[in-house]
Amino acid sequence: MEARYFRIPPALVRITEREMTEAEVILALREVFPPVSCRWGCTDCCGPVPFSRWEWTQVPPEKKNGLTVKMIPVHHPRHGFSASAIIPFAGDVPQDAFLECMTPGAVMRLGTKLKRPELVTCPFAREGRCTIHEHRPILCRLYGAVDDPRVLCSYGVRAVPLLPAFIGQTAMAIWFQILPAHKGKKNREVRL
Ligand code: SF4
Ligand code: SF4
Repeated sequence: MEARYFRIPPALVRITEREMTEAEVILALREVFPPVSCRWGCTDCCGPVPFSRWEWTQVPPEKKNGLTVKMIPVHHPRHGFSASAIIPFAGDVPQDAFLECMTPGAVMRLGTKLKRPELVTCPFAREGRCTIHEHRPILCRLYGAVDDPRVLCSYGVRAVPLLPAFIGQTAMAIWFQILPAHKGKKNREVRL
């Protein structure tokens, strides 16, 4: 049988070819993931999502009003709490909240002992839609676009073409590398 090869998205190749600013890296990563047509009124896969510093600066100030914004330590299986990401919340956040990379560069989830509903939703998900859609962070763009069970839409929404899982993992590994270092294990308030 003839072997089939997947063509690496040119934008991903570009990142490896020269030094780029954080903005350039994010814009290139955004090119990698094809848009998906979500079900009308659905934000079911939305949860607390991490932003890099540049991604956060792109969110319009009026959308940030009233939110609690924290630099959350990112737990990486190999590197420990070596980086931190920005996560906005609708309510207070426990000091022990941390972000966990489930595998190097793969999907992330928020670890916290509190189970309050306002902590497990994204404050930008309102009335069944993303209110910052064009500025949503890279992690959001993986959903429905990558053939990885952790980010596959449970309603069967799929991008065409559906990207192999390693593309999503590579993109998140690159994204992880542009995060600033984090000292200590506690999260802290962001003033931007
Ligand atoms: S990817 Fe699927 S679950 Fe997520 S918002 Fe779109 S339709 Fe809903
Ligand atoms: S930023 Fe938008 S797409 Fe991402 S989790 Fe929040 S509401 Fe959903």
